[in-house]
Amino acid sequence: MPRSYVAEARRRRVAPKKERIRPVIERLALEHADAAIALRFESPLELLVSVMLSAQTTDVNVNRVTEKLFRKYRRPEDYLAVPQEELERDIFATGFYRQKARSLRGTMRRLVEVYGGEVPTAFDDLLTLPGVARKTANVVSAERGDAQGVVVDTHVRRLSQRLAFTRQEDPVKIERDLMRLVPRADWARFPHLLIWHGRRICDARRPRCEDCPLAAALCPSSRVGA
Ligand code: SF4
Repeated sequence: MPRSYVAEARRRRVAPKKERIRPVIERLALEHADAAIALRFESPLELLVSVMLSAQTTDVNVNRVTEKLFRKYRRPEDYLAVPQEELERDIFATGFYRQKARSLRGTMRRLVEVYGGEVPTAFDDLLTLPGVARKTANVVSAERGDAQGVVVDTHVRRLSQRLAFTRQEDPVKIERDLMRLVPRADWARFPHLLIWHGRRICDARRPRCEDCPLAAALCPSSRVGA
């Protein structure tokens, strides 16, 4: 289990989370107007593959691999037309390549056999694809303009705990708290705002509270004036 940030949020008295959520979103949106998914894709299939490959690696790394990959594999059938070892070599640099290749081939087979070679739009259908869990389905749905939940990655978890939007550790429970708190219209962009804020300012080890637009009134974990 990664380090918890729940205790940090007890330091400073701030307004209840229901009152803070909108100003937090507004300030983060001003600060990170460019916050968007960093993966590069041009179709629902490329989006799905990119998200599946992004587990346990960086988006930059995935983009480097998919730049070549998407020239070679254009349709689900293309992933099934090569031996598994060839696909493994082609995605090797994203790590966990054996498992990822297995998931990709299983997903492609199901796309061909059940969904006419298309990526399904329904959230529950996405969850039936091998190797596609809630987080992947959430990212795919959100990027297609139909967010069904709130994506919880390591940044979203850390910042939600520091901002006292949740006291949970389990990503599914964190997501449930965020779905109750964040207006539905913001479900897609909210994770991007937290992810970019986490990358640029609210670092796991050394949060730069002195440069943070949420310090100190909106963040109970702020070190400013502590
Ligand atoms: S940088 Fe500091 S003030 Fe800003 S969200 Fe992180 S802990 Fe809170």
